[in-house]
Amino acid sequence: MPVLVVGSVALDSVETPFGKADDVLGGSATFFSAAASLLTPVQLVGVVGSDYPIEKLEPLAARGVDLTGLERADGQSFRWRGRYRHDLNAAETLETHLGVFSRFSPKIPDKFRDAPFVFLANIDPRLQLDVLQQVKRPTLVACDTMNFWIQSRRPDLLELLSKVDLVTLNDGEARQLSEKVNLVQAAKWIMDLGPRHVNIKKGEHGALMFSRDSVFFAPAYPLEGVFDPTGAGDSFAGGFIGYLTRTGDLSDANMRRAVMYGSALGSFAVEKFSIERLMSLTRSEIDERVRQLKHLTTFEEELPA
Ligand code: AMP
Repeated sequence: MPVLVVGSVALDSVETPFGKADDVLGGSATFFSAAASLLTPVQLVGVVGSDYPIEKLEPLAARGVDLTGLERADGQSFRWRGRYRHDLNAAETLETHLGVFSRFSPKIPDKFRDAPFVFLANIDPRLQLDVLQQVKRPTLVACDTMNFWIQSRRPDLLELLSKVDLVTLNDGEARQLSEKVNLVQAAKWIMDLGPRHVNIKKGEHGALMFSRDSVFFAPAYPLEGVFDPTGAGDSFAGGFIGYLTRTGDLSDANMRRAVMYGSALGSFAVEKFSIERLMSLTRSEIDERVRQLKHLTTFEEELPA
């Protein structure tokens, strides 16, 4: 089964304490696709400008990412410039140039409209809403967002949240959106708007999946070398939704497994710049990391005598 993703396809310039990269492949839909395509076929919808090195997306196409819905428009591509200092959990946005995204109107190709799983990756909520009108009864619609849109498009975002099944966002964004400091209260506030599940990512401190009557926690894999955190959230979403799409099972037990795949994919994404590590990754490496995550948290309960 394919998963449809709509989001940014960007050129990122990133600075971390370990190095610098300019105009490398980035964007929410790009990271999502690189991660999810390791588990299931992906249909991508987005836009790039005439300056985009489109040939660099060929390895993604070779791995099962259908690029029919990637529009090429006249103008500059979406560009994001960010910096991380010693707190690798906090990205500092230095510049956001929407470029061709400011005039983008997503057109979902006919053959993508029946996609059973849809991920509305981080992008203007007005475009996310527009996409929802074009798809036919998906089994699950999930969305992501970020501070930029919470601030500038709040009413549209609230409307979007009333129409999706699941939201993924990081802890800071959950607090900013709900105006609640406590994450349990923030998740409840968001679920009251409509979504049945809220995944709150906490960077190196793992991720929480809140559902109406349960909470699940997945640790982040304790990596010795985190190189560039950009795209961890989108890769988490790619692993999570990719696993759900591949298995087609929305039971609580399977959603918990999916969160572990999300955590595994997120941890690989940060080992190198851009989508580099995701592109060299194999299924057996992913399975092994999921096994290690299980080992990390398994213990035998024993009451003291
Ligand atoms: P994350 O997974 O949260 O680290 O997402 C990082 C990606 O989000 C980068 O590759 C950026 O190109 C992309 N990005 C940054 N700002 C925006 C924005 N306002 N809208 C859509 N995508 C963005």
